[in-house]
Amino acid sequence: MSDKDVTEVVAADAAGIARAAQILESGGLVAVPTETVYGLAARADSGNAVAKIYAAKGRPDFNPLIVHVRDLEQALEIADFDERAFDLAARFWPGPLTLVLPLCDNASIASAVTAGLSTIALRQPSHPMMKALLAKLGHPLAAPSANRSEGISPTRPEHVLGSLGSEIPMVLDGGPCERGVESTIIALRAGGGWSLLRPGPITKDSLVRILGTESDDADDMIEAPGQLSRHYSPGKPVRLEAMRAEAGEFLIGFGPVRGDCNLSPAGDLKEAAARLYSCLHEAALSNKRAIAVAPVPHEGVGRAINDRLARAATPPGAGAD
Ligand code: AMP
Ligand code: MG
Repeated sequence: MSDKDVTEVVAADAAGIARAAQILESGGLVAVPTETVYGLAARADSGNAVAKIYAAKGRPDFNPLIVHVRDLEQALEIADFDERAFDLAARFWPGPLTLVLPLCDNASIASAVTAGLSTIALRQPSHPMMKALLAKLGHPLAAPSANRSEGISPTRPEHVLGSLGSEIPMVLDGGPCERGVESTIIALRAGGGWSLLRPGPITKDSLVRILGTESDDADDMIEAPGQLSRHYSPGKPVRLEAMRAEAGEFLIGFGPVRGDCNLSPAGDLKEAAARLYSCLHEAALSNKRAIAVAPVPHEGVGRAINDRLARAATPPGAGAD
């Protein structure tokens, strides 16, 4: 039996981290905990290793990956930082903010990571076990969410097993993810403008306070390849803004709309973000034929929640990660 057939869930203690480091060094894949969602990691300097991520996820190769760095020093070997980038890194790293920056000419990054673009998406994660792993390695890690392309992102090891169980040798168990939705992604452009490419835990309001208004000049827009409309799909119809369940629906509640499970009975958006994918997984696994979701306020991290829900509700055939 090859090690592809059995996925081990390994405690993220010193011994587990050392084993994960060994697999990664030798070009293998490991699912790793981060503060956002579980990532499917490979060394970012190896084309062969990165190719395994695309294959395991069934991810289209035009969809570039986020690179996770140990610290700012490692980030500076990969991308060109301007004053704004230094400022944002000082404020939000380690943490759930991804910066899209110009790729350095001599960066040791496999071209598959950036899907051939001249920019790269970088983040320094804050999860203590991911930090310990990066500190052991001599290279950064490319790591998209550890799920099949189009599927629901994983926030617990069992979600990873359900989606990628036969594809990877190891999941490093760091318990449930604290934030629960993917990082905020912004692009900083040479001309001084910026764009929010994906809403996330670092809110747009907090970025506007630092960077000023987001650019709206269409010519100046950077594309965010891979931000396609269908994503996070539970494989069943999803109805949004529901106040009650109709026949055959599993209701994901919020606040006073109780539901079969509830994102946050107290109406707390941070808690709702942390529970979002667990509730979607539960709804997907239930015997109900469809899913309804209660309204979630469109403010703060509620924007990221609504972004993911809108994509989960997009019917098949609309494109995907
Ligand atoms: P994830 O699937 O969480 O790894 O997020 C990757 C997403 O980051 C991609 O789908 C892109 O939308 C975005 N991204 C990564 N690299 C770039 C880049 N160089 N330029 C613009 N967007 C990027
Ligand atoms: Mg993903």
